Amino acid sequence: MAERKAIPAGTRLRLFSDAAGFCQKPDCMEALFPAEMGGDKHIAEMAHVIPHGDAGPRHEDRPADDFDPDAFDNLILLCPTCHTKIDKDPEAYPRNILIDWKANHLGRLAHRQGIRAYDEREQARAAVAGIMAENRAIWEKFAPEEGSGFEYDPESGTAAAWDQRMRSVILPNHDRTLAIIEANLALATEEERRTFAEYQEHVRGLSERHICGVSGRAIRFPGAMEGMFA
Ligand SMILES: [Zn+2]
Ligand SMILES: [Zn+2]
Repeated sequence: MAERKAIPAGTRLRLFSDAAGFCQKPDCMEALFPAEMGGDKHIAEMAHVIPHGDAGPRHEDRPADDFDPDAFDNLILLCPTCHTKIDKDPEAYPRNILIDWKANHLGRLAHRQGIRAYDEREQARAAVAGIMAENRAIWEKFAPEEGSGFEYDPESGTAAAWDQRMRSVILPNHDRTLAIIEANLALATEEERRTFAEYQEHVRGLSERHICGVSGRAIRFPGAMEGMFA
């Protein structure tokens, strides 16, 4: 659909933060910052729930009173495929459905990512194990100071590729792991809580280095994390 004027920056920021990086259609939840695009370009589209014009999809749902189509409450962040779907079939996707997607997006996302309190240690274990395994595999293959015998040269493409993987896969995985463990600390032993504190420090250091460009020394990944909830 044609956008009449630019959506205000504040509204856009709020929308992106609300979507947390994923298409807000619940059965899609496509990554809006695809890893293969380097993690800093996005495919997100701001879709109007109620359109500007009198002919656009869902225009008959327009509230009678003063209404700003570009307000936060009237926008939803979608991948291009879902944007097309909802605009081509407004009867299947009326206003109340879209509002519900938005309202429940973060809860669904957290649940899908395993960020919830489990009853058993082995469930929490299963939730974090796969994510940590993915990070370990990437680290073993690409980490500049590890294995594979290539020289670490900050100017080289290899360093750039590592930086990109760090921002698009490894750090998001760490954030997810932190959130899962946090939600399940009640299941952790005293020793695991200490390991978790070290792990938090490790992730903080990594973020400072790769997101903020601060060259501080990150503490090493605590090996005991491999046994978390095991
Ligand atoms: Zn549109
Ligand atoms: Zn989508």
